[in-house]
Amino acid sequence: MDKGRMRTRLLRILDLTPPLKDILLSRDTLESKRDRIRQLLEDMLQVTYDENFSIPSLECILIRDAISVFKDILSVRNERLANHSFIKYLEDLIHHGDSRDLPMPSAGFFKELEHLLLCITGKPGVYSDRVSKFEECEGRRAAKLRSAELSRMMRKALKFMNRYPCGLDDETIRRRKRNKRRILKYFKASEQDWEKWKWHTRHIIRDADTLAALVRLTDEEYRGVKLAREYGVPFGITPYYLSLLDNEAGKGKDAAVRAQVIPSQHYVTRMKERREQSKDSMDFMMERDTSPIDGITRRYPAILILKPVMTCPQICVYCQRNWEIEDVYSSHAAIGKEKLDEAVQWIANTPEINEVLITGGDPFLLSDTKIENLLSRLARMDHVERIRIGTRTPVTLPQRITRNLVADINRFHIPGKREVVIVTHFEHPYEITPQAMKAVQMFRRCGMDVYNQLVYTFFNSRKFEAAFLRHKLRLIGVTPYYTFNTKGKDETDDYRVPIARLLQEQKEEARLLPGTVRTDEIVFNVPRLGKNYLRAWQHHDVISILPDGRRVYEFHPWEKKLELVDTYVHTDVSIHEYLKRLKSVGDKPADYKTIWYYY
Ligand code: SF4
Repeated sequence: MDKGRMRTRLLRILDLTPPLKDILLSRDTLESKRDRIRQLLEDMLQVTYDENFSIPSLECILIRDAISVFKDILSVRNERLANHSFIKYLEDLIHHGDSRDLPMPSAGFFKELEHLLLCITGKPGVYSDRVSKFEECEGRRAAKLRSAELSRMMRKALKFMNRYPCGLDDETIRRRKRNKRRILKYFKASEQDWEKWKWHTRHIIRDADTLAALVRLTDEEYRGVKLAREYGVPFGITPYYLSLLDNEAGKGKDAAVRAQVIPSQHYVTRMKERREQSKDSMDFMMERDTSPIDGITRRYPAILILKPVMTCPQICVYCQRNWEIEDVYSSHAAIGKEKLDEAVQWIANTPEINEVLITGGDPFLLSDTKIENLLSRLARMDHVERIRIGTRTPVTLPQRITRNLVADINRFHIPGKREVVIVTHFEHPYEITPQAMKAVQMFRRCGMDVYNQLVYTFFNSRKFEAAFLRHKLRLIGVTPYYTFNTKGKDETDDYRVPIARLLQEQKEEARLLPGTVRTDEIVFNVPRLGKNYLRAWQHHDVISILPDGRRVYEFHPWEKKLELVDTYVHTDVSIHEYLKRLKSVGDKPADYKTIWYYY
C-alpha cells in the first residue's frame, strides 16, 4: 500500500470517532493530545453509563472494556513497558507519514484500530437481535422460547463439531487397520509385534525416506524431516502413531496429527540457528532459573517437577523442552543414577513439597522396575501426598500401558494417604483411538484419574474443535485439566494462536458444554514464574498494539498480592494474520468475528 492510500485508509477509520480524529489532526503537543483523548474516553464512558440508558447492558459492558483497553494503551508506563507508543505512532502516520523511518501499518494494525473504535463508539455489531425473545415472556411460554433458542445454539455447535474427525469413528478405525497392515508389511512384522511397545520403540521412523516409503508426504513435509535429520533436530514417529496418518499427502483429515510431529522447514531452520546461538536461548520458560538441582524444576510452593528422562517416543514440534531433548527415544537421555539420587534426596529434604510431577521427556520410557523404584522412594516420604505422572504414551504408544505397569503404579495409589494420577496430552479427537481408550481405561478401572493437558495451537483451534476434543475425552475417561497457550517461541510461530482466541473459545464454545466436560483452565505460562489464569481479566492487560498488528500484553504473576515480583511483557501473534490462516484452510473469518473484543 502506498503512503497516500495508507493515510486515506487511516483517516477513514478515524471517521468512526470524529472527536478523536480532530485531536490527532490538531497541532497540539503529544502530551496535550494524550490528555484530550483521555478526557474524550472519560466522556464517552460517562455517556454510556450515566446518561444514555437506551444502550443494552451487554453493549455497555463491551464499550466499557474497550475504553479501558484504550486508556491502558495510552499510559506512558505501558508505552515504556511495550517499548512502543500507539498514540505517537498514530500521530506520526498522520503528520509524518512520508518518513522513511516510520514502519508502515499492517492490515492487522488497521483492523485492530477499527475494531477498537467500533467498540468504544458502541458499534461492534456483536448482537444481531437486540433482546432475546424469551426475555419478553414469562412462565411456560418463556421456557419454551428459551428452550428453542438453546437448541438452536447447540445445533449450531454440533454443526461445527460434526466437521471434525474422531479416531473412534467406524470409518477411521477401518482406515487405520489398513494403515497398520501396510506398516507391518513394510517391517515384515506381525500383529503380535504390534502389541509390544518395545517393537514400536525399535522401529521408530527417524528419517524422511523411510517415512516417505510408509506414507504419502507433501514436498514440504519431506524436506522438513530431511533437514531435521541433517541438522540434528529430534524427529521420530512410532509405527503406531504413523498409523493415525491418512495415506494422502496434504489432503487427509489428519492435518492436526501430522502437524504434531512433522516439523516444518521454518521450524528446523530456526532450531538450527538457535542451537548455534546458545542452548539457553531456546529455554523459553527459563527453567534454568527455576531448577535448584539437576532434574528438578520448581515454580510453586507445594509442587515440583522431577525429570528423570529427557526423551520421548516422538517429539511434539512445539515442545517447550525442545532445548533439553537431544533425540527421540535416546538411550542416554536418563538423568543418571547419581543425579536422580540427589534429586530424590532434595525432595526428601524439602517437606513443603506435597506434590511431585514426574515428567521429562516421558517417564514411561523407563523400565517398569525403574518406575516402580522411583515411586517407592517418593512414597516413603510422608509429605509427598500426590504423584502426577506426565506421559503422552497413551497417545503415541498405548502399547506401553501394560497390565504390569498399571499394577506397579497402582500399588502406590492409596486413597486417604497418597494419590497417583496420570496426566496425558491428547491434542486432537483424531488421536482418540480404541487403543488409546483402552490404555486410559486400564488406569481408570483401578481407581486412578487421568487428566489431559491440551496445548492450544493453530491446528486444534478452529471453531468448536477443542470443545469436541473435550467432549470425546470425557467419554473415554479423561478429564480436561489445562489448556495452554502455545509458548511464544519464534521457531513455533506456525503453531501460535492469539490470546483473544483462547478467551473466545472458552466463552463461546467450551461454555456451551456441561460443566463435567469443560473442567480445564486456560493458562498462559509465564517464563520463570508459572501459570497465569487467562480467564481472569484482572491478571493481564493489553498494553499496546504494534504497527504489525500484534498486541502486547502485561501478565501478572500468580503470586500477585503475596510477593513483589515482576510482571511479564509478552507480544502476541496478530489476530488478522491468524484469521487469514483460518481462511486459507476453509474457515470463515465471520465465524470468529467477536475475537477482536476479547482482550
Ligand atoms: S510429549 Fe511432552 S515432553 Fe514429549 S515432546 Fe511432547 S510436549 Fe515435549
